[in-house]
Formats: sequence, structure tokens, C-alpha cells
Amino acid sequence: SIETFYRDSWAEVDLSAVDYNIKQLKGRLPEEVGIYAVVKANAYGHGDLQIAKQALESGAKALAVSLLDEAIKLREAGIDAPILVMGWVRPGDVEIAARLDVSLTVFQKEWLEEVSRLDLPCTLKLHMKWDTGMGRIGIRSAEEMDILLNGISKNSMLELEAVFTHFATADEEDLDYFQVQSDRLEQLLNHLKKVWKDPVQIHTGNSAASMRFPEHMKHYVRFGISMYGLYPSEVVKREKPIDLHPSFSLKTRLIHVKKLAAGEFISYGATYETQEEEWIGTVPLGYADGWIRKLQGMEVLVDGKRLPIVGRICMDQFMIRLDQEYPLGTMVTLIGKDKGQQEISTDEVADYLDTINYEIPCMISYRVPRIYL
Ligand code: PLP
Repeated sequence: SIETFYRDSWAEVDLSAVDYNIKQLKGRLPEEVGIYAVVKANAYGHGDLQIAKQALESGAKALAVSLLDEAIKLREAGIDAPILVMGWVRPGDVEIAARLDVSLTVFQKEWLEEVSRLDLPCTLKLHMKWDTGMGRIGIRSAEEMDILLNGISKNSMLELEAVFTHFATADEEDLDYFQVQSDRLEQLLNHLKKVWKDPVQIHTGNSAASMRFPEHMKHYVRFGISMYGLYPSEVVKREKPIDLHPSFSLKTRLIHVKKLAAGEFISYGATYETQEEEWIGTVPLGYADGWIRKLQGMEVLVDGKRLPIVGRICMDQFMIRLDQEYPLGTMVTLIGKDKGQQEISTDEVADYLDTINYEIPCMISYRVPRIYL
């Protein structure tokens, strides 16, 4: 669906790529392992409702988000698949989750005590987070587990639906620490088996773990970055456990084209000086759209050619040094393919910014309309 918009910059999200990526993972995982599609942060900038619907259609069993607000948005849009909030939710807001049948993450006895004092209108499903080495949130010992299990068992409105953990280094070459986390997970699982008789789901792997070690996955994996067609690290990209199709591209158009004499300056600070007679193009996209100032000097694609961004990137516009005159309205590709084989990948933009690919679609702001292919 294309919403109406009135600007010449947009992101394209290829839902058939998302479908392909999920099916590739399904083909690699054991038959019985299910997939949580991780659609937090507006589906890593791709659009949460559209990605959630596509992921469920492509075979994901459930959705994972970070915030209660994100879960509420999905429910209000009519999505009735299981949804897990993986982050911390204020005890005072828990009742909303219970009413909407949204599962929450439990890992803190103070939180559980407060929640236990509530007069919940319906059952609240809980996933217990185990910190096996991420060092972020989660219980770290069997003693802490017992305290939470005890609290849950005493309250008939609380149901332990699952336990889960998150790996810190599953995308790395050196897997020693991944092994440490896996061992701690097994120890906690052994303890759970001894003290808890009701069925509980177990979900562990992120993209890296689920693609690289499919045979070690439990009931579910949580598939994030690679559902969107990106590898979680260079190591995994080289290993290529499954083939992925990138789903995100970013495009704009030339809204102004001019010939400048040598010795003219471009943009704030006059940091770029034309060396000869040069064609300069202006595009309507800037740092308020997430194309940050550090991208000065990065290349874009015009007519299948790589051309540089010159001068400082402004809030709403930036300039490109063209190799010739181009008609107004000529398409400029910032991420994606243009004519033939030329491509600027999300990974290349991430490398230029000395960051990870996860950050790139996340930083393309709300001002940039997403179009679904
Ligand atoms: N599980 C948890 C708890 C996460 O925080 C994340 C994302 O950071 C994921 C799963 C998905 O990870 P990835 O995007 O690497 O697949």
C-alpha cells in the first residue's frame, strides 16, 4: 500500500525479500523449531505492521518487540498472533498487557512482587529472561530462578509461558564465550526441569545463532536483522549459512541541477570548493531524515554511476557532484541497486559510518515514507 506523500525521497521495502529470508531460515532450521519475528523499533525501521503481517504470512509463529507501546500498536492494528515484549515494562502498565494478551518479560523479584499485588483482570503470560552472559537483563542463578518461580506459582493470574536468553557473541569467529553462555543455559534448563513440571517454551537464538547453529536451537528462535536481509556480522556474511535478500533501499530525486565555475563553494562552512567547471545536483533529503552529516563524502548512485556527496549535509537537503548534466527528477539511489549491477549496500553505508548495519534502517527517520513492494 502506498500512502500519499508529497516529497521526492522514499524508502522501498521489498516484502518478497522478507518472505524469502524467512523461508531460507525455515529451510535450515529443524522442522519443529518456530520463529519469532523481531519487529521492535518499527521493524528495524522497515515498518512494523507491514513486516509483522508479512512475517506471519511467511511462517513466523509470533512477534517480539521491545516496548509495550510497540505491542499495543500491533494489537490495535488487529494482529492477533502471540506478541512478546522483550524489555522491561512498568508494573503499573502490566494490566494493559494482560488485557491485550501480550506476553511480558520477567526477571526481577521486586517487579514480580509489585505485579503480584495487582488485581489482574485476566491471565498475564510471562517469559523469564535468563542472563547467561549478555549482562543486560535476566536472572543469573538457580536461586533467583526459584524466587521467581515461587512468585509465579503462587498467583493464579500469572502463567509462565516461556524462558529465554540472548547471546552476546553468536556472530563472532571465536565461539568460546558463546559456549560459556550455552553451558550456563543448559545448567539453568536442568534446574528448571527439576523444579517446574508445567510445559514451558524455550527460545534462544538471534539471527546469528539460528542461522549458524540451527541444530542447537530449542522451541523457537528470535529472527531479527537477517529477516530484513542483512547478515549480523562480517563473519556470518562470509560464512553465509543461508542466502539473504536485502529488503531496504533508499531513494530520492534531483530537484535542482546547475553548472558551477571553478572556485565556487558548496553548503555550510563552504567546505567543498569546485576544482573546475562542475555540475552540482541537489536532493531533498538531509540529516533530519537520518542521512547524517557524517555521510559527507559518501557516494550515491545516479544513472548507474557512483558520484560523491559534496559539502556538508543540511537538515533537509544535500548536494552531489554530477559527472554531467542530468534532467530534474533523475532518480538518486542512496541504498540499493541502480541500473544494472551497481549497488550501494546497507553494509557499505554502515562501514562508512564505522557502525553496524542494524543502525542504518533504524536511523532513517519518520519523515521518509516507506513504500512496500
Ligand atoms: N532477541 C533479543 C532479546 C534482542 O534484543 C534482539 C535484537 O537485538 C534479537 C533477539 C534479534 O537479534 P538479531 O537482530 O541479531 O537477529
